[in-house]
Amino acid sequence: MKHKNFACEKAKVCGGCQLQNMTYPEQLEYKQHKVSRYLDRFAKPKAIIGAAHPEHYRNKVQAAYKRSKNGEIISGVYQSNSHKVIKVDSCLIEDELADKIIVYIRQLLKSFKLTVYDEDKKKGFLRHVLVKRARATGETMVVLVAGSSIFPSKNNFVKALTEKFPEITTVIFNLNNRSTSLVLGDKQEILYGSGKITDILCGKKFLISPKSFYQINPEQTEILYSKAIEAARLTGNETVIDAYCGIGTIGIVASDKAKRVIGVELNPDAVRDAKQNARLNNIENIDFYCGDAGEFMTEMAKNGEKLDLLLMDPPRAGASKEFLESTKLLAPKKIVYISCNVETQSRDLKVLKDMYKVTLLQPVDMFPYTNHVENIAVLIRKDTL
Ligand code: SAH
Repeated sequence: MKHKNFACEKAKVCGGCQLQNMTYPEQLEYKQHKVSRYLDRFAKPKAIIGAAHPEHYRNKVQAAYKRSKNGEIISGVYQSNSHKVIKVDSCLIEDELADKIIVYIRQLLKSFKLTVYDEDKKKGFLRHVLVKRARATGETMVVLVAGSSIFPSKNNFVKALTEKFPEITTVIFNLNNRSTSLVLGDKQEILYGSGKITDILCGKKFLISPKSFYQINPEQTEILYSKAIEAARLTGNETVIDAYCGIGTIGIVASDKAKRVIGVELNPDAVRDAKQNARLNNIENIDFYCGDAGEFMTEMAKNGEKLDLLLMDPPRAGASKEFLESTKLLAPKKIVYISCNVETQSRDLKVLKDMYKVTLLQPVDMFPYTNHVENIAVLIRKDTL
């Protein structure tokens, strides 16, 4: 496998891809070193699993729209730490169809005589476009984010868009007229289709709505989840916790092999999606709770509940002290810790080190061309070894 040594001409101003100047094998080497630097003291990390398709992997793409000085409507990304929009026609890591849709919308704005939003004057129409694609089913969602709710000839606009791109299965209008760095506002209207798309990951279906969190590289996510669940070696008798579960993906994939799964997640929207996803897949041995994972674990330990396997996938900040201390009280035989930040993972493993031995470190490259590394750590309680 040979990858070209390219540099995107917008790399420096965009800032999205920090490893632009490296070939793909060089990037993997860089990430391998990073994992070793932080985690060598616990075990020798396995070779990082690279992506078969390191380009155009992002299934979620968002673009800002602006009128440039010469009057032309442009779309693209914000320059790092600024509100200047850099024109992007195609991006090396984004879904190619999503980019084509975003560029075509510039043309549609012109033919429908629609304006773009001016953040300073707080006037105008289109602000952002968000495209999400379900790779397994091909379903495609387009969210038009506007600063004003007046959308003249919206039916014809949607007709023109969906005729040009028959892959689009749903179009949503979202109103965001506030000064905020958040792309989506609270009010939305479905203009076409059901307002959601469905993807398939590890044989299970997942509903994706405009706001729900979903892994952005599905091909590598399947590898990550499969490796994590394989390492758990479930027999069907275990009680499993999926902590920081998001929309329930890992727990739902693992549920076939466990007796019972409990998912815990802070974001109420994600919990609602998780419950819906469990129903969609007819899974009955899974429950989801909304709350802080640390508090939940403390409560479980207080009630003297039994836990066989802890699956955890915290955000970049890692797990809280409370979470780790109650994990030690619950003392599951095995922990599978998925991390998107080896620095905090290393810190957390140190807390667990007296009681657990790290038996596997498996990095997976989820975000080629960026400096982010995903890593699975498997921990076994020392007294059971
Ligand atoms: N496992 C999921 C999501 C991982 S992202 C997946 O693979 O898709 C980390 C998740 O942790 C996010 O959904 C975030 O909302 C949640 N989170 C952040 N802080 C939390 C806390 N204190 N307690 C529980 N969940 C939390």
